[in-house]
Amino acid sequence: MEKYLSQLNEAQLAPTLQKDGPMIVIAGAGSGKTRVLTYRIAYLMSLGVDPFNILSLTFTNKAAREMKGRIAEIVGASEAKNLWMGTFHSVFAKILRIEADKLGYPNNFTIYDAQDSQRLIGSIIKEMGLDKDIYKTKQISSRISSYKNSLITVKAYFQNPELIEADTMSKRPRLGDIYKNYVDRCFKAGAMDFDDLLLKTNELLTRFPDVLAKYQNRFRYILVDEYQDTNHSQYLIVRALSDRFQNICVVGDDAQSIYAFRGANINNILNFQKDYDDVKMFRLEQNYRSTKNIVNAANSIIEKNQTKLEKVVWTANDEGPKIKVNRLMTDGDEGRYVASSIFENKMEHQLMNSDFAILYRTNAQSRAMEDALRKRSIPYRIYGGLSFYQRKEIKDVLSYLRLIINPADEEALKRVINFPSRGIGQTTMDRLVVAANGYNRSIFDVMKHIDKVDIKINSGTKNKLRNFVTMIESFQVMNQTANAFELAEHVTKVTGLIKEFRDDGTPEGVAKMENIEELLNGIKDFVEGQEELADATGALPEFLEDVALATDLDADKGDADHVALMTIHLAKGLEFPYVYIVGMEEDLFPSGMSMNTRSELEEERRLFYVALTRAEKQAYLTYTMSRYRWGKLIDAEPSRFIEEIDEKYLDVLTPVDDKRFNPMLSADIFGDVEPNQIRFKKAAKRKAEKKPPKFIPPAKLKPIGKSTGSPDVNLFDGKLTVGNIVEHMRFGKGEVLKIEGVGADTKAEINFEHGGVKKLLLRFAKLDVL
Ligand code: ATP
Ligand code: MG
Repeated sequence: MEKYLSQLNEAQLAPTLQKDGPMIVIAGAGSGKTRVLTYRIAYLMSLGVDPFNILSLTFTNKAAREMKGRIAEIVGASEAKNLWMGTFHSVFAKILRIEADKLGYPNNFTIYDAQDSQRLIGSIIKEMGLDKDIYKTKQISSRISSYKNSLITVKAYFQNPELIEADTMSKRPRLGDIYKNYVDRCFKAGAMDFDDLLLKTNELLTRFPDVLAKYQNRFRYILVDEYQDTNHSQYLIVRALSDRFQNICVVGDDAQSIYAFRGANINNILNFQKDYDDVKMFRLEQNYRSTKNIVNAANSIIEKNQTKLEKVVWTANDEGPKIKVNRLMTDGDEGRYVASSIFENKMEHQLMNSDFAILYRTNAQSRAMEDALRKRSIPYRIYGGLSFYQRKEIKDVLSYLRLIINPADEEALKRVINFPSRGIGQTTMDRLVVAANGYNRSIFDVMKHIDKVDIKINSGTKNKLRNFVTMIESFQVMNQTANAFELAEHVTKVTGLIKEFRDDGTPEGVAKMENIEELLNGIKDFVEGQEELADATGALPEFLEDVALATDLDADKGDADHVALMTIHLAKGLEFPYVYIVGMEEDLFPSGMSMNTRSELEEERRLFYVALTRAEKQAYLTYTMSRYRWGKLIDAEPSRFIEEIDEKYLDVLTPVDDKRFNPMLSADIFGDVEPNQIRFKKAAKRKAEKKPPKFIPPAKLKPIGKSTGSPDVNLFDGKLTVGNIVEHMRFGKGEVLKIEGVGADTKAEINFEHGGVKKLLLRFAKLDVL
């Protein structure tokens, strides 16, 4: 047996060595699904399967690169290079480029990113004279996206009275027309959006049997990772391509399906056995990633979901420390706690920054973490924010480059036609759009023939338009001989972009200059990496495609040592020794927007399962007592998910020995109750009864103290009066007997049903007035 195969256990070997036929591996987190795919590819190659005949689809390009790297170690780099490997979008963008003409697209089609599509939808709504408060760009865009992912074309839409009625009912009767205009405009601009990359692939494979046959023949072995999160469009592509040879291997975990909101369909994994004949089903049970505590805790959570496939997950790894649960006053404290815990762990266990990840439900939560890490000088990186390539100045440069390749690209043109300023105003632009629509030509075409076009534009402006056309055409000429780097450098100079930012003189201007320089470096790297091209001329389209499909995760070369900050959605498939899951609060996680139905709540629970199972050695859960949401400080309640974990795996603590983080402990409000006896029952009970939590409004908010340790606290201004009946999270109901002191020192003596009379410092006490 090949030596590398000894790095698999028996259960993993079975699907790895199963050469032919349809097969599915369903297994829990960390059980080696991705490893099986990787080794299986190496094994197929060792049996003589040509790498050109293997197609492997991953969830991120980063995952594909890592997989390829590992395979290269086993079979050699030159062989591994020829594997078809990447995300659905990147693999099929390449195929569409080869076959574009069949669909009436130019081979140099542009890929519109989410921002481009939204801008276009925004202009269409405006041009149609629709109310932008009813036709909200983002909502329309996600509606169109979901149509595309369900393969509902414009034609299909207009043939479906139910869809039309649904949109009419939701007061958007023109949605179909917007959809139609959007599709037409993209087509005319020679542009595909992300969803088109899948939709058009489907169109290609259904309309052209010879093309389908060609790719069925090419991709004799197809492997799909994270199959539970494929959408309908992706499902159909895989189905069509694998139909002839039926050598299809999918791996996934229904418990980690977390993209339903984006159209992922868990039925794809559940129905796999019905879709093919003689499906071999494999299960893996041993988790290699995490400690016993983490594995068992994760099992105890996912058990609460009704919709699931029964699975066993166990580990032979160490017991490990329990999951630490900590409550903080504010998100500022939460950040400081996490930063200082990372610092201490690093010192104590001699760790790298990259051994740590901070995961959260929403991007907005990163700010408090960032502030705290910065103060402690801990290097960090936020993933999934605005990607480098979406920054304004970068997109400006890229838009010029896009125009060189495809001058019909409407969004690129609109971005830069008057940037840097050339005196071409909005009115001119509007008229150009109208003319382009009227002549059914691209805006660039209209500009090129501006003298022959019936348009109300004065001769001075016409001149400016001609100059712009001439400039782009001169770049196109240069593109015949120069490489992408030389061209890009030339473009930034000639267009005046560099000058614009240099003259700006502000630190922001300088930062933008630096970013452009970084972009040029990136292009240079890319050009140098294109070794297969005799000379690097022509690398520009490839570079632009890479950039269009790059996610923020891809930009990470893995060389820098930093703490990773990202949403849980982005963390799927990844692993880190130490994981902090922050913001474990009701309405935040589970998200307040996803608690309306059982299935939404179950998706949130799967998300928590994904979060926890990223941890190898230790997991931390934190929640705050109050948090700013929508500009208001509101009382937070611990997430029901904390309570759902079997408590024997938890170490519930408040940092008793560290008063810097939790001033509660310095105010004697707990009486004789041990800090680790904090219960969450009340909050959960209240939620179950669907009663909104009442809270004392923070009438006066005044931060006290500035140093690292002091939290921001709200001062209670005396809304409470003697005789009020109140409820405390742990002491239960009680009657207010006495109020003394003023401002920050206001205390109340309360007779509680559990624990009797207690004196509480009101600025810290969590009381609901009943
Ligand atoms: P997820 O569901 O999170 O995507 P997965 O099932 O894909 O997880 P992998 O990422 O393939 O799991 O494996 C988890 C970890 O366990 C990896 O670090 C992997 O290298 C390691 N691992 C898997 N199988 C073995 C094995 N047989 N021996 C040693 N380590 C293993
Ligand atoms: Mg995996």
